[in-house]
Amino acid sequence: MNSSSRLWFATALVVAFGLAPALSAQDQRAPEIVHHRVNPNDGGPNAVFGAAPTAGSTSALTAPLKYHGGPVFSTPTAYIIWYGNWAQANNTDTASGQQIVTDFFNAIGGSPYFQINSTYVGSSNLISGNVTYGGATTVAYPYGASLTDANIQSIVADAINSKALPSDTNGIYFVLTSSDVAESSGFCSKYCGWHTHGTINGSDIKYAFIGNAAQCLSACAAQSIGPNGNAGVDGMVSVLAHELEEATTDADASAWYNRRGYENGDLCAWTFGTSYQVANGAYANMKLGTRDFLIQRNVTIRSTGQYCDLVK
Ligand SMILES: [Zn+2]
Repeated sequence: MNSSSRLWFATALVVAFGLAPALSAQDQRAPEIVHHRVNPNDGGPNAVFGAAPTAGSTSALTAPLKYHGGPVFSTPTAYIIWYGNWAQANNTDTASGQQIVTDFFNAIGGSPYFQINSTYVGSSNLISGNVTYGGATTVAYPYGASLTDANIQSIVADAINSKALPSDTNGIYFVLTSSDVAESSGFCSKYCGWHTHGTINGSDIKYAFIGNAAQCLSACAAQSIGPNGNAGVDGMVSVLAHELEEATTDADASAWYNRRGYENGDLCAWTFGTSYQVANGAYANMKLGTRDFLIQRNVTIRSTGQYCDLVK
């Protein structure tokens, strides 16, 4: 988005799991949430599920990221708020599904993939490429099963006010909803997740919403099965990685983005580099800890230019 809308943008909800290639010029100016359409590389509902995920271009980005002076995280602490019912009689909203995400957060920090962010030299402080996992809390449906953007901030505030989670200005709070929970500003139709920041008890708190991709696999996942046997949660993990790297490098929407307003995750969304198949037939492109994951690429900054890649 252009610089005039950027200021307004910074005060509003930041950056959804956007699809940079699919946005028109009109889209860049209008919404506070960058529209996420159906995964363009998989062609629409169930189109080519089962095919290898899109690798993406290996050329240097023509609209590279620039640093705009705002804050970045050196080593953020990630917190999870599980919203809804994660003990359902389905195969996605389950304790084993939660464990996939917990294992992701425990393994992402310091990984070759997340160390990509340490190439963003010139930031207000060093981006270490590490992440600390700070723990989780669970809430049922205090705001029902159709949430607004404002509800997401209330869910984070409640977790802090109840002391279920600490008030941490070095934290990024991820609200993860079960697959029966809608987000009325456009989960599944416009986006798969977003990150933003807001004032909670006088502190500037960063937080993000990630919906369970099982609600709309063709829109919010790259495949209909997951490398950990949970298509919805395995799909969420790529969105989580996207929002985690954006919140780290552009915490207040004033640090690393390009001339069109896109953050690092947006520029590589829905591209996965070299992938391989695991035993159940799902595709993956990296191993974190003991698990295989399929996670979108991220922008790495090299002396020769900026590229979407899986390593720095
Ligand atoms: Zn994004």
